[in-house]
Amino acid sequence: MKVKEIMNRLEARYAHEREYLQAVHEVLESIEDIYNQHPEFEKAKIIERIVEPDRIFTFKVPWQDDRGEIQINTGYRVQFNNAIGPYKGGFRFHSSVTLSTLKFLGFEQTFKNALTTLPMGGAKGGSDFNTRGKSDAEVMRFCQAFITELWRHIGPDTDVPAGDIGVGSREIGYMYGWYRKLARENTGVLTGKGMTWGGSLIRPEATGFGGVYFVEHMLQRQGLSIKDKTVVVSGFGNVAWGAALKATELGAKVIAISGPDGYIYDKSGLDRAKIDYMLYLRATCNDVVQPYSDEFPEAVFVAGKKPWELKCDIAMPCAIQNELDADDAQRLVDNGVICVAEVSNMGCTPEAVELFIRKRKLYAPGKAVNAGGVSVSGLEMSQNAMKLNWTREEIDEKLKLIMQNIHESCVQYGMQTDGYVDYVKGANIAGFMKVARAVLEQGLC
Ligand code: GLU
Repeated sequence: MKVKEIMNRLEARYAHEREYLQAVHEVLESIEDIYNQHPEFEKAKIIERIVEPDRIFTFKVPWQDDRGEIQINTGYRVQFNNAIGPYKGGFRFHSSVTLSTLKFLGFEQTFKNALTTLPMGGAKGGSDFNTRGKSDAEVMRFCQAFITELWRHIGPDTDVPAGDIGVGSREIGYMYGWYRKLARENTGVLTGKGMTWGGSLIRPEATGFGGVYFVEHMLQRQGLSIKDKTVVVSGFGNVAWGAALKATELGAKVIAISGPDGYIYDKSGLDRAKIDYMLYLRATCNDVVQPYSDEFPEAVFVAGKKPWELKCDIAMPCAIQNELDADDAQRLVDNGVICVAEVSNMGCTPEAVELFIRKRKLYAPGKAVNAGGVSVSGLEMSQNAMKLNWTREEIDEKLKLIMQNIHESCVQYGMQTDGYVDYVKGANIAGFMKVARAVLEQGLC
């Protein structure tokens, strides 16, 4: 395989899909050596088959706003690969969503889901609809219009969507209710459901909790622990909340969170009341983090800046793709960061990742670090299929074990000759080998 040739072909075909090309390039670079040791992959054109989604649904979503005006958004579902299980992956509702975003996320999801050890293929969907500033009724009408188009293509053994940015329990509720009505069935077609209608305990916390469990394993290999470490988290949504909660519980000090408007520096660290306030802030404000400093005057709001300029031991990007660039990475390195764990999908730019690896920092990519979210989604699917519920302790135990397994796979495939673990290589190779073998063993389909 020549990475260059494959990339040239994809670039010619999908010239404007920058994020998708970035995600594919990162994986192909990592797996090139191992792929070339498997001529059977080359013969079956495994790479060429895996980098393209199985199919893409693009559709119009017409809905009516509270003033009676008709609005039209675009909806998508990218069913990427189902070689190891039903398509699985969230919906993102955000004005920045394009097909490129969802192709990159669906591609990443395929390998992430393979890493979880659970039988889930990869998919992603969403819309350029933004829930911010919309009433509940508007969000409901949009969700119903979205599912009216998509319900035929999803199902508990076919394709199981969930949440992502802009899609939380409220949106999952509206979509589930409408699916149930149209399909005339009550099955686990979506994950992230409410607790009284098929949801799983720990699902809201799972991405953040899993990320912190992964960080613990990275540190433990170096004889370190998260206790008493200073942590900077970006974002203030569900993922950032879960990460802040678990890191604090384990004795770390979380000194920053952020929003599109800037960041909050809270020198004394977030306590339980402040972490709970993050949920309130997310639910009530218009995507701004600034009100935190009104509520807790000891905290400082820094407008228009990213939190990576703060000195910290651990950095956890929890917001959106490419939120940490080469300059941010340089600042973190200069300030002596020990560990950077990407909880957002593709949170660091390629230049930032290259710097962390060159400086031999503990750095791990989103598809490993944030796999706890989709893992508990997988556990929700199991509980729905059994029509039984596990306890909080049972799920937390399973989540811990999954994160430990993912970490071990990364170490196995990412170990370099100098003893440094390249988690990017490790995660990409481990995920890829599993999907590639499944595709090969099932013939041309
Ligand atoms: N959106 C999450 C992710 O990026 C969760 C997907 C799911 O639970 O299916 O992995």
